[in-house]
Amino acid sequence: KLYNQVQDLKGSIRVYCRVRPFLSGQSNYLSTVDNIEDGNITISTASKHGKGCKSFSFNKVFGPCATQAEVFSDMQPLIRSVLDGYNVCIFAYGQTGSGKTYTMSGPRDLSEKSQGVNYRALGDLFLIAEQRKDTFSYNVAVQMIEIYNEQVRDLLVTDGKIRNSSQTGLNVPDANIIPVSSTFDVIDLMNLGQRNRAVGATALNDRSSRSHSCLTVHVQGRDLTSGTILRGCMHLVDLAGSERVNKSEVTGDRLKEAQHINKSLSALGDVIASLAQKNPHVPYRNSKLTQLLQDSLGGQAKTLMFIHISPEPDSLGETISTLKFAERVA
Ligand code: ADP
Ligand code: MG
Repeated sequence: KLYNQVQDLKGSIRVYCRVRPFLSGQSNYLSTVDNIEDGNITISTASKHGKGCKSFSFNKVFGPCATQAEVFSDMQPLIRSVLDGYNVCIFAYGQTGSGKTYTMSGPRDLSEKSQGVNYRALGDLFLIAEQRKDTFSYNVAVQMIEIYNEQVRDLLVTDGKIRNSSQTGLNVPDANIIPVSSTFDVIDLMNLGQRNRAVGATALNDRSSRSHSCLTVHVQGRDLTSGTILRGCMHLVDLAGSERVNKSEVTGDRLKEAQHINKSLSALGDVIASLAQKNPHVPYRNSKLTQLLQDSLGGQAKTLMFIHISPEPDSLGETISTLKFAERVA
C-alpha cells in the first residue's frame, strides 16, 4: 500500500489543509469551519449580509483535533522517496497565527509528542537509512536559510555573524551545509538557526512571520553492491504570513516587507499553478523563493503544499483567500 502511495506521489503536487483549534480563552467563539469530511472543507460565510457557505476539496483536510503524529503519518511516503533519490518540497502556507510553525516545528514548549514535521521527517530519515544499512550507505547534511525582503541569509552560522549570501546567487552554495548523523544533531542545528533568526528581529516585531524559513536536507546514498550514487533533497519551508496588509495603514519598511512577501507568495502560486496545469513554461525566476526551490518543484519532484486555516470569524477573509490560493492547484 505504501508503495502505491509513493507511486501516486511521483512527479505530483498534493495539497493538504489543516484547521487550527481555538486557542485558550476562545471557548465561546463560533468557528467559520462548518464541516470537514474526507478531503472536503466547508466554510460558513454567514455575516450580517446573510447566510452562505463555500466548499473546497483537497487531497486531505485535517481538523482541529488532528495530532502531530496523524498529520505526519500522511507524509511518510515522501520521506522514503528522498532516500530513493527524489527531491521533495513541503511548504506551510497561511496567515500569521494559523499554525504553520506548529505544523512544521511544533509549539514553543516542545515535547516529543508535539514535535512537528521537521523533527519527525529527520527522525524517519535516519530510521529508514538504518534499516537499509546492509544495502545502502547514506550521508545526510542540512542547511537552514531565511529569505527576508528577497535576501537570502544563512542561519547556520556559529560565529554570531549572519552572512548574507544573496550576492552569491541561488541554491545558497555559500550557506553552511552541515553533516548530521542523528536527530540530536539536527535539533541542535535547528536551535542554532532559531537563535540566529531572532538576532535579526527587532524587539517590536516578530520577524519570523515576515520571512520564509527553509530547512534543506541533502541525502546522498551509495548502493553498496553497484556503487551507484543516489541524490535526493528535501526542502521544509515555513512561509511568511500570507495576510494582505492594508496599504493605507502601513508605510516604509513594513510596506516594503509586505510587498516582498506578496510578490514571492504569488510567484510561488504561479509556479505551482503552471506545474499543475502542465504548462511548459514555469516562471521560476520571479522570486528568490521559487529559484531556491526550483529543483524540488516540477520534474520528478514531489511537492506538498500545506495550507493552514484559523477558525476565528475575524479571519474569514484570509481563510477564503488561503483556500482560493490552494484551489488554483488542487
Ligand atoms: P503561524 O506560524 O502560522 O504564525 P503558529 O504555528 O505560531 O502560527 O500558531 C499560532 C498559535 O497557535 C501558537 O500558539 C501555536 O502553538 C498554536 N497552534 C497552532 N496550531 C495548533 C494546533 N494544531 N494545536 C494546538 N495549538 C496550535
Ligand atoms: Mg510562524
